[in-house]
Amino acid sequence: MTTFDITAIRHDFPALQQQVYGKPLIYLDSAATAQKPQCVVEAIDEMNAKCNANIHRAIHYLAIQCTERYEQARETVRRFVNAGKTQEIVFAAGTTAAINLVAFSFGERFVRSGDEIVVTEAEHHSNIVPWQLLCERKGATLKVVPVDDTGRLQIEKLPEIFTGKTRLLCVAQVSNVLGVVNPVKEIVQLAHAHHVPVLVDGAQGIVHEEVDVQALDCDFYVFSGHKLYGPTGIGVLYGKEEWLEQLPPYQGGGDMIASVSFAKTTFAGLPLKFEAGTANYIGAHGLAVAINYVQDINRTAAHAYEQQLTAYAIRQLSAMEGLRIYGTAAPKTSVVSFSINGVHSSDAAAILDKLGIAVRTGRLCADTLMQRFNLQGMIRASLAFYNTKEEIDALVNGLRQVQKMMH
Ligand code: PMP
Repeated sequence: MTTFDITAIRHDFPALQQQVYGKPLIYLDSAATAQKPQCVVEAIDEMNAKCNANIHRAIHYLAIQCTERYEQARETVRRFVNAGKTQEIVFAAGTTAAINLVAFSFGERFVRSGDEIVVTEAEHHSNIVPWQLLCERKGATLKVVPVDDTGRLQIEKLPEIFTGKTRLLCVAQVSNVLGVVNPVKEIVQLAHAHHVPVLVDGAQGIVHEEVDVQALDCDFYVFSGHKLYGPTGIGVLYGKEEWLEQLPPYQGGGDMIASVSFAKTTFAGLPLKFEAGTANYIGAHGLAVAINYVQDINRTAAHAYEQQLTAYAIRQLSAMEGLRIYGTAAPKTSVVSFSINGVHSSDAAAILDKLGIAVRTGRLCADTLMQRFNLQGMIRASLAFYNTKEEIDALVNGLRQVQKMMH
């Protein structure tokens, strides 16, 4: 294994120190929600306890402190994804909220009856259902890019999928089921050559990949704080300024206006136009602390460690009889989903749980992929840089017990 001080890293995460059912917790569900380092927990606690006042409104001390932290967090996010301007960073409740924002506002402005929106077969429900709702509202059609048996997106089909009526392509950087890294830069180039803008769902991607939205040249990029070792209830929409300027507001309320009268309301400029109501300033600050943490621990070493751990997990799991892994195409992040002959995923989860092992099972918010692979559900072990080889061994032993009990 690459030199990476796993003992020190694990020490940073209080949730990993606990026992469940009298056994050490083995947390293999980070793709759903990652655990938070102590510094994030403390940052949230400290704000809740002391630095709590509504932002962008009052001019008293606490309000100014909170506003500054919120806007500093925006700058931290901007630098993290290398956006050109802070106006291009909109805080939302998470990936789902950010996608719904674009589906509504972009849809209102640019989608008409007969138009087409393209998604892929490997999307999370969050990147399918908002587009279906938009298509229903507008009389548009949803088109789908298929994946092959290895989980590779068949991007060679894109030129025949795009038509003069295609308004947007929505694609995950990394599927939450397959873990396969999609060639987003290439996809964006291809789409732009057909005058199609691209929304990238980075919920999984940003955790494992260095993201540079300017280099990717994507039009929208969305992600959640809680998968990036940050708080729940906070996420980000990056949008190119020229797009965001053209979109109408998503929600109306305080903070998103310039002036209100019964005759006419005018809206705030970017990004506040899209941040109606009291923002989650504590979440935004917590996210910034999480981003700083991720950058401080040497991301390159953390990635290398995760990759080695993933390769080990795949080797060990592949050696098990009757086990099939989905998403075998390279490159792949540390999301490993599989099925076991004759074992229902929920039974496996229940048995593993009693051994202290947390995995995700079921349809993984990806019914269309379950249909693609003709399954009722999968078992997913998603690894983070705080997991260990010993934990993988425990998972494999646990699965052997599952097989024994079920057969
Ligand atoms: N897209 C992907 C690829 C995801 O993995 C997830 C979370 N599982 C989401 C979207 C939705 O994220 P959230 O629930 O944080 O809005």
